[in-house]
Amino acid sequence: MLTGSGMGAISTTVLALVSAGDHVVAQTRHYMSTAKLFDEVLPRFGVTTTLVEQSDVEAIRAAIRPETKLIMLETPANPTLVLTDLAAVAAIARERGITTICDNTFASPLNQQPHALGIDVVVHSATKILGGHHDLTAGAICCSNELAEKIWRMHITLGSVLSPMDAWLLLRGLRTLAVRVERINANALQLARWLEAQPQVERVHYPGLESHPSTRSRSGR
Ligand SMILES: *Cc1c(COP(=O)(O)O)cnc(C)c1O
Repeated sequence: MLTGSGMGAISTTVLALVSAGDHVVAQTRHYMSTAKLFDEVLPRFGVTTTLVEQSDVEAIRAAIRPETKLIMLETPANPTLVLTDLAAVAAIARERGITTICDNTFASPLNQQPHALGIDVVVHSATKILGGHHDLTAGAICCSNELAEKIWRMHITLGSVLSPMDAWLLLRGLRTLAVRVERINANALQLARWLEAQPQVERVHYPGLESHPSTRSRSGR
């Protein structure tokens, strides 16, 4: 399902899946407007949220309550590039019948496929890498038909639909996605390596570097 912006995709999905009295587990680090949705909007409708350090799977598990309906994930997180173990969190959520959402904007669908790791709903801001030309705003919601049925109704009601012109521009952008992501990955890694070698630079946050905390813990397992 396409929306008028990435935030349209996120707010529509979340509002479609929670009701008063429900509880959400989200991350301490999210794109700023996503954080505001949990901080400022949901409490007005009787939905509470616990924010958890996203690299700590045990903390995510511990934050779950009987009334938890949703786990909201964003990995790599904007702008810190902290990672969440999607497969581990998806397994915990599946066991308890909790729906998982992953904001996959920063990775792009070519670098990470959360559905393959067990995540229920994948959301994207298409305004950035997917569009690729800085001339459109759009978002995407990807999920099963069953969840789409629920989210679609909220989508129409909230009016977070994509305009025909932006949809056309997005299709044009997608045609070059594969070559652009390849170049983005190569440029970012080269830049991160160069920055890390500069004595004036204290720390570089990039998951492709050996110094990234999640990379270290993975190789140490
Ligand atoms: C930019 C961004 C959004 C919001 O996207 P818009 O299309 O600007 O609404 C959501 N999540 C992440 C991770 C982003 O970087």
